[in-house]
Amino acid sequence: MIIDAHAHLGVDRVFEEARDEKQLMDAMDKNGVDAVLLQSMFGYITMEDIRAGHDRIAGLAKAQPGRVFGMITMTPYLKTGEFKAEARRCVEELGFVGLKLHPMAMAVSPLSRVGEMMWETCADLEIPIMVHTGAGAPMAVPSLCIQRAKQFPEVPCVLAHCGMVVYFAETVVAAAQCDNIYMETSWTAPHHIDELIRQYGSGRVMFGSDEDINIPAELAKYKSLHISEQEREDCLWKTANHVFQLGL
Ligand SMILES: [Zn+2]
Repeated sequence: MIIDAHAHLGVDRVFEEARDEKQLMDAMDKNGVDAVLLQSMFGYITMEDIRAGHDRIAGLAKAQPGRVFGMITMTPYLKTGEFKAEARRCVEELGFVGLKLHPMAMAVSPLSRVGEMMWETCADLEIPIMVHTGAGAPMAVPSLCIQRAKQFPEVPCVLAHCGMVVYFAETVVAAAQCDNIYMETSWTAPHHIDELIRQYGSGRVMFGSDEDINIPAELAKYKSLHISEQEREDCLWKTANHVFQLGL
């Protein structure tokens, strides 16, 4: 079993990328990926567009039962009531399993008031938060999640990209301080993934691709690591299955 903990669908207005359903499902089939955690793209500021992005993911999830799980993706600079209502709709009506915070694409520091509101939303809905880390410093450095992870110990916090090599050491520091911090390893160096497994155990590490064409490269890292089959299974699906309560 393989779960890709990080993928996107739609047209991105910030990074000017586009990915559709066929591209994603073809890449999953080709690479033996069984399930995916799917986020909308960034740069949408009207509720109409945001809902359309969430509904598109929900449509694919319905067409691919047990294979596609949605992640709430929206700017927190909406009215707080609207943000929270849409987040609740995603979880209760669409079956979404987590919320994404992208400090660079959303212009949000985890330490800011709106950052705190995103954690509060996750606590209310009992879902994990995934935070992009790495590119986009200073707001995207992993250490900024420490305070919120401590403030909300019941909310699992997944550091996407583990600080992207340059800020990897901050991921080590953050993971040491907070048991509720987990690591998604797209764009992470293989020896850094190895270090995380050695220090914190494979139960805190999860495979992710971020881009369908990156799936083979990310899977190859896990093939080359000198880890046990049990550790590989944790990283490839069991950690994500547990943290996001997918029931697979
Ligand atoms: Zn991403």
